[in-house]
Amino acid sequence: MIKVYNHITELQSRLQKERVKKHTIGFVPTMGALHEGHLSLIRKSLSETDLTVCSIFVNPLQFNNPRDLETYPRKPEQDISVLESAGCQIVFLPEVKEMYPEKEPQKLNIDLGHLDKVLEGKYRPGHFLGVATVIKRFFDIVQPDKAFFGKKDYQQLLVIHRLVEQVKIPTEIVPCPIIREADGLAMSSRNLRLTIGERTIAPFISQILNKMKEKGTSLPVRELKNWAIKKITDNPAFHVEYLEIVDKDTLYPLENWKSKSKAMVCTAVYLGDVRLIDNMELFS
Ligand code: AMP
Repeated sequence: MIKVYNHITELQSRLQKERVKKHTIGFVPTMGALHEGHLSLIRKSLSETDLTVCSIFVNPLQFNNPRDLETYPRKPEQDISVLESAGCQIVFLPEVKEMYPEKEPQKLNIDLGHLDKVLEGKYRPGHFLGVATVIKRFFDIVQPDKAFFGKKDYQQLLVIHRLVEQVKIPTEIVPCPIIREADGLAMSSRNLRLTIGERTIAPFISQILNKMKEKGTSLPVRELKNWAIKKITDNPAFHVEYLEIVDKDTLYPLENWKSKSKAMVCTAVYLGDVRLIDNMELFS
């Protein structure tokens, strides 16, 4: 039977009992409106640890657009039942004041370097400090042995690696592959906000990323990037915020194909007012 905790102290006293029994703890932080992408993380955690804690918390500190925060899909009851069917043992569902008791919560003081300035960082100022803040808070509360993150939010994964390194958190970070719909669209809670028409054309983004893979080094880096942007924006329903071919370790733009084994394309595209992100390694 799944157990839902809303309060930190109750969750911690349960986890303490599990630790006494030498049970290892896996942690999957989410913002809810769960789909197969989230469930793949839950399953991985269930297979690698004794007890899986899934948090559902729409973190106000990581939203730089108030409308995005307001319209973010919320379905806690459905989420709990989906988690129960998947075999997840614990859901942590705190209110904002439980996570941030202060009137004006401060973001963590940590240097994310250029990770905070490129790609998502450039267009969502303060977003990653908000993410780092909530993850640090969750790690302090749950103290997981392992925590599971999707490559769908690839830059976030690099931010989390940096956080655990800088703050010396002893949790193992486990990256998990992107789960896609049958038509290639990367699963995302925000897909729920697409109209039927938008949902029909949304897979075009991943189709173009796949075509970039096919084209490989037949075009110079810059030309391949421009080709992809043009292809997507040929349909005026799409607005490309960025599409970059980067080194997957540093996220700096790739100049040429010399280190092509590290080439990754990362993009953020607006379809109507829904912002979709996706990424793909080009030579894997
Ligand atoms: P979110 O609820 O969007 O904050 O996502 C919670 C976790 O699920 C993050 O680690 C995401 O990277 C991961 N995730 C979201 N969508 C997918 C997906 N399509 N495939 C794999 N992981 C995902």
